[in-house]
Amino acid sequence: QPSIRGRRSGISHGASPRPGEREGQDMSTPVWEMEPAQGQRRLVHVNATATGGGVAELLHGLLRCQRSAGLNVGWAVIAGDEAFYAVTKLLHHLLHGAADPGKLRPVLLRTYHDRLASQVPWFAGRLTRDDVVVLHDPQTLGLAPALRALGARVVWQCHVGADVPPDRGPGTVWRAFEKELSAAHAVVTTLPEFAPPSVPRASRFVAAPAIDPAAPKNRHLTPAEITALLDEAGLTTTRTAPDVTVVQEAPLPGDARVVLQISRWDPLKDMPGVIRCIEGLAPDVHLVLAGTDPTEIPDDPEGLAVLAEVHDTLAALSPQDRARVHLVSISMRTPVRNALLVNALQRRADVVVQKSLEEGFGLTVTEAMVKGRAVVASAVGGLRLQVIDGRNGFLVDPTDLDGVRSALTRLLDNPQLRRELGEQARKDTLERYTMPRLAADYTVVVDTALE
Ligand code: UDP
Repeated sequence: QPSIRGRRSGISHGASPRPGEREGQDMSTPVWEMEPAQGQRRLVHVNATATGGGVAELLHGLLRCQRSAGLNVGWAVIAGDEAFYAVTKLLHHLLHGAADPGKLRPVLLRTYHDRLASQVPWFAGRLTRDDVVVLHDPQTLGLAPALRALGARVVWQCHVGADVPPDRGPGTVWRAFEKELSAAHAVVTTLPEFAPPSVPRASRFVAAPAIDPAAPKNRHLTPAEITALLDEAGLTTTRTAPDVTVVQEAPLPGDARVVLQISRWDPLKDMPGVIRCIEGLAPDVHLVLAGTDPTEIPDDPEGLAVLAEVHDTLAALSPQDRARVHLVSISMRTPVRNALLVNALQRRADVVVQKSLEEGFGLTVTEAMVKGRAVVASAVGGLRLQVIDGRNGFLVDPTDLDGVRSALTRLLDNPQLRRELGEQARKDTLERYTMPRLAADYTVVVDTALE
């Protein structure tokens, strides 16, 4: 068994508040992550978590950008409990075609709607007529009719999507949420084909996510900073850090070639599948899998189970292969350190892989690309938009392990190709996926919602 050092991720439940929770806060009501000013018309984003996952990451950058452009923006985070997040995770998997549509039973939908209904008074006391509210993802869609009834203009942005036929799951969600979808003045998806078919074409918008190249997650780091961050985290040393848990047999050698995947511990990210890729890669290639501490993302209840499967997969490897795999679990309680560590890991990597089975849009891939990394990504969902095969990275079939290994090896063995693809990746990302572009997309959506 691999040794476990530091605080054992996933074992320390509930002792201290979750990130985003506040002292004395009533956990049945939303909280302002960022309160808008009174007076002028407001643009209020609403989602399920202030940290962890792509939407939270995106909103931090987007709000900075919208605020500096002079908009009166706010961000509210809804409350939830285990039963609510179990339903929202099912909705997420259904939209990815990764759950049995029969599981969406009426009793679950009742739980979902009850939890949201009790939060409407909070909004009623804060929103004024003609505020524009952007509800993010299925967790908040249920609020649309009530917020519209309060006089707000309602936009729903769905960051989830997959190339699956409606009868594999999405159709079930669209049918169950017909009323909520018709209450939205505009619906935004990452690709046109992810839009619910019942929404009139004039109300449908497409907006790909974006990153902030100047944020701690992406800003330039000197080689000395990268070394210090990885040393402090205990990846390249035997140190222990209070906010990072590393599982490895020995520190990552300085001269190892590194393949990295960063994800939430979600079944669709296929971390166990990434581990299996180590078999057959050259002996100096090491694999680093990094993810958020799974106890810290309230709307992601499957993290511990996935982490357990990751450990089982590790245990089944030969001792030689196991010694080349490093697991890093990062706390969100120290968000800037977390972002800098992710940044350092991405810059240390020779190749960044995203072997997702489905993916609406992978911010981790965009973050790697803006750093000039060579990427290998699954040819699914939004990743097909981000990576242009052979131009700025490689696309692979995530179910074909040999295909993934051979794309990794091709890049690992050819530094010149890595540099060329990486440089193109950086240019393409700066051109297509930065915050000013997303803020401009929003201007069009908001104008339509206000018509
Ligand atoms: N992330 C992070 N720390 C971690 C793991 C992930 O900050 O330990 C961030 C990552 O950098 C990215 C986001 O979480 O910004 C994940 O977004 P993505 O779109 O790739 O996937 P999602 O979690 O939304 O499915």
